Amino acid sequence: MTKASTSGRTGGAPRFGLHVSTAGGLDRIFARGEALACGTVQIFSHSSRSWEFSPPEEPLLEAYFGARSRASFSDVFIHASYLINMASEDGDIARKSVETLEKELSTARLLGAKGLVLHPGSARGGDRSKAVLRAASRIREVLDRVPGEAPPLLLENTAGAGSMLGATPEEMTEIYIAIGRPQQTGLCLDSCHLFASGFDLSEEGAGQELVSRFCEAVPGGRPSLWHLNDALFPRGSGRDRHAGLGEGHIGLPALEHLVRLAVRSETPLVLETPKGEGDEEDRKNMRRLFSLAGFPVPVELASE
Ligand SMILES: [Zn+2]
Ligand SMILES: [Zn+2]
Repeated sequence: MTKASTSGRTGGAPRFGLHVSTAGGLDRIFARGEALACGTVQIFSHSSRSWEFSPPEEPLLEAYFGARSRASFSDVFIHASYLINMASEDGDIARKSVETLEKELSTARLLGAKGLVLHPGSARGGDRSKAVLRAASRIREVLDRVPGEAPPLLLENTAGAGSMLGATPEEMTEIYIAIGRPQQTGLCLDSCHLFASGFDLSEEGAGQELVSRFCEAVPGGRPSLWHLNDALFPRGSGRDRHAGLGEGHIGLPALEHLVRLAVRSETPLVLETPKGEGDEEDRKNMRRLFSLAGFPVPVELASE
């Protein structure tokens, strides 16, 4: 099918990208992405391990939109802070989680982001269905509080360790239905998390089947974003430890199925693979990504 070589491209570039650093200012992400042949990027809008942050103000926004208007791509996804636990039973954590998610969503709206990625939450050993309901009602509260035109909140499937919610299609569907805001929510599927929670990705149709199952309650029946990562630990480990493409237990043949699936459905795809010194690891993983998709490797990514 020759169409596959061009579909999934926007303005000539495939919507492949990486999680990039915002060091030095939010406006820097575009040059950083362009140097790595990105058609999209994902960022943390503030330190992902701190509760403290304030949404960006005017001079920074001006620099950001200036850089975006000159860049070869404009799609930015934001990953919400890891501290947020919308399902928490602890009143203080719950309050901080709601406040922080609201600020994250306002920031995503200010930056014109394509989506805000969120892990659904953790039951921390308590009753799972009650945890689902707690998370869903708090998420709905935030969605209702942030004024219109906010980007969708993309719930990410998790690795299935302990009490983390959202590792199975059934639980994800339960969460979507409980939130009850289909126009404001979407799905982000992470390959490492699928594998860590026990799904076998080696069969050619596995990805498509999982998409259908995870998207039962998702409008459009497809994810809004893929996170493509290999897995450091074997299938079913429950461990959320990413590896470079072809350097973990998922392996290149299975990852290739997922990449081609994402390209066919024109779903953007972001790598969250480990970074080393400099950008050589990012360049290597991006080269592999283009090769897996059957696209020519852009000159920017040529090895030194
Ligand atoms: Zn994540
Ligand atoms: Zn992820």
